[in-house]
Amino acid sequence: MTIFKAIFWIAIIAEMVIRAPISKKQRKEAKSEQRVSTQEKTLLGVLFLGMFFVPLIYSTTSWLDFANYSLPAWAGWLGTALMVCALVIFWRAHADLGLNWSPSLEIRKEHTLIKNGIFGYIRHPMYASQWVWVIAQPLLLQNWIAGFLNLLIFIPFYILRVRAEEQMMLDTFGDEYRKYIAETGAILPKGK
Ligand code: SAH
Repeated sequence: MTIFKAIFWIAIIAEMVIRAPISKKQRKEAKSEQRVSTQEKTLLGVLFLGMFFVPLIYSTTSWLDFANYSLPAWAGWLGTALMVCALVIFWRAHADLGLNWSPSLEIRKEHTLIKNGIFGYIRHPMYASQWVWVIAQPLLLQNWIAGFLNLLIFIPFYILRVRAEEQMMLDTFGDEYRKYIAETGAILPKGK
């Protein structure tokens, strides 16, 4: 249904709007560490395909129509509700992380370890938001390729990125980050 396609693109624009001010400012920040490997660059590029490029092809051409499926309306509205959750988590994560955010693995000179706000519950709220997003996508974009590619790509991205990111944080913040790991969950709050 076209309304759910439209909702998907509104969510994409909302993420851009949330990220833009931080993205612009953080580029000017002096960096003390950059771990941008070929693996990292490849994963980010492939992620763009699943999140943006293939959905764009699906939404603007009929090339992928052979892989369409049709869900009842409630599934599309469930996808919409999940998208709203994803955006709220995404927004809180940006508000709390501020200029410590980076698209790739970086530590800035003035980096601080954030453990408050949503980071008081989970270490990876942006990735948690992305998990909700990749589950919502096949409910909104009802196409085996455009709906599921992002989920397929995000699984290896998540595993590799979290491993490398936590290693970088441990190398930078040592015991403080070790203690933070013990107190929080990765994407789900830790039960007491
Ligand atoms: N994994 C986090 C952040 C993603 S942005 C999330 O899912 O919300 C990636 C950058 O965030 C990394 O390069 C790292 O420098 C920074 N970062 C991750 N966790 C952080 C924390 N608790 N405090 C400060 N910076 C953090």
